[in-house]
Amino acid sequence: MAASARVVIVGGGVTGLSTAYHLAQRSGVEVVLLEKGPVGDGSSTRAGGICTSQLWAQVPIQVRVIALRRFKELSEELPDYTYHDVGCLNLFDPEELELRLQMKKLWDQYSVANELLDADEMRRRWPALVIEDDIHGFLDERGGYSEPDEYVPALAAGCRRRGVDIREFTAISEPAIESGRCTGVRTASGVVEADRVLSATHAWSDTVLAQAGYQMPCKLFVHQRFVTSPMPRPVALPAVNHHPGGCYFRPADGNRMLLGIGSPDRMERPALAADERMAGLTIDEEHFARERERHLRHVDLGGPISFEITKIGITAHSVDGEPIMGPVPSVEGLFVAGCLHSGGFAYNPGAGYVLAEMLADETPSVDMSYYAADRFDPAEVQEFMATKIREGEQSHIRGRSKRH
Ligand SMILES: Cc1cc2nc3c(=O)[nH]c(=O)nc-3n(C[C@H](O)[C@H](O)[C@H](O)COP(=O)(O)OP(=O)(O)OC[C@H]3O[C@@H](n4cnc5c(N)ncnc54)[C@H](O)[C@@H]3O)c2cc1C
Repeated sequence: MAASARVVIVGGGVTGLSTAYHLAQRSGVEVVLLEKGPVGDGSSTRAGGICTSQLWAQVPIQVRVIALRRFKELSEELPDYTYHDVGCLNLFDPEELELRLQMKKLWDQYSVANELLDADEMRRRWPALVIEDDIHGFLDERGGYSEPDEYVPALAAGCRRRGVDIREFTAISEPAIESGRCTGVRTASGVVEADRVLSATHAWSDTVLAQAGYQMPCKLFVHQRFVTSPMPRPVALPAVNHHPGGCYFRPADGNRMLLGIGSPDRMERPALAADERMAGLTIDEEHFARERERHLRHVDLGGPISFEITKIGITAHSVDGEPIMGPVPSVEGLFVAGCLHSGGFAYNPGAGYVLAEMLADETPSVDMSYYAADRFDPAEVQEFMATKIREGEQSHIRGRSKRH
């Protein structure tokens, strides 16, 4: 990259903001972030905000280790933001436990906390947890959660303090491309020129990148989470990914509980149109009222509660279940970050950290070829995109698309 350069980031979710924040500390780099709505208008403010680094491959583990470190540091750097390091408990049935035990060596190698707890020990530590006898948990004691409604504005303010020019309510229609090189982005009020452009537009990626001739090999699913009324008594919980139960939960501000529920029967959906907002997404209320009651069996809340908040957004899953982060094939200067599955929030300070290194032409802290956009077999992509699947069928995809 030249001694002085301008990078335009499209998308003001956690991926775009975090990249901008980490990039902006480099001298000579001017960062402009364009967001078609207010910052956080996509999935980022809808996320559960749960984070663990207990993943199953070296590079994602390394990025999540950076993310957990940065969440802690950001608690110091960003006024009005606190990372809640209550631990993340990942629960498995006996079959899944066997697979996870094989990853222990990898977790140890990268200093990922992974204390194995049986049902009795989990009940002893968190008396409100209702756990079946054959369930085990791996505790990631550095894991935990952020409140997205606190984190996103705090990160945007941090970006502004570092000099990032955040332009809200500024949609880009397409990247500007001349002779195979990206020279900026087109907006209603003209071209914003750039030496490099990063599209971090998540569920809108196809809409934004179509003109660049690139389609994300990606399946999109609507996903939902809920927050209870205050619980009748104080309840101590870690953040819990309940894989056998198909749900996750964590403490939330005001002695509440956040509960996220998967929907295995739901069909994939197309990319969001340019003018479409996640605020317009709906779910079957009656079905999820029943589902919430069913999933409350995992916690003894000490009395009746109601649900006060519903958030509906989109998760995005690539052919192999892993994110796509790197140069867009055949267009020099154009980069993409997306397909961050149900873990893009947990990824973000780590993803932003390594994307900033990549955009600044520094040697990235991890092997970014793992995330390369051109890593897929074209025939596999073609078959993947031609087959319509339900959320519960993601696991037929190579990779392990469990919640992470
Ligand atoms: C209900 C739910 C719960 C989740 N829980 C968790 C969790 O507990 N932990 C976890 O790690 N992950 C979780 N996720 C996943 C996580 O929310 C996403 O992976 C993450 O937010 C993706 O961030 P992003 O910045 O890439 O995308 P987004 O936040 O969607 O940001 C993309 C932005 O691009 C903007 N944009 C789009 N098109 C244009 C354009 N043409 N011009 C300008 N701007 C544009 C959009 O307005 C949007 O703000 C959850 C997701 C959902 C839906």
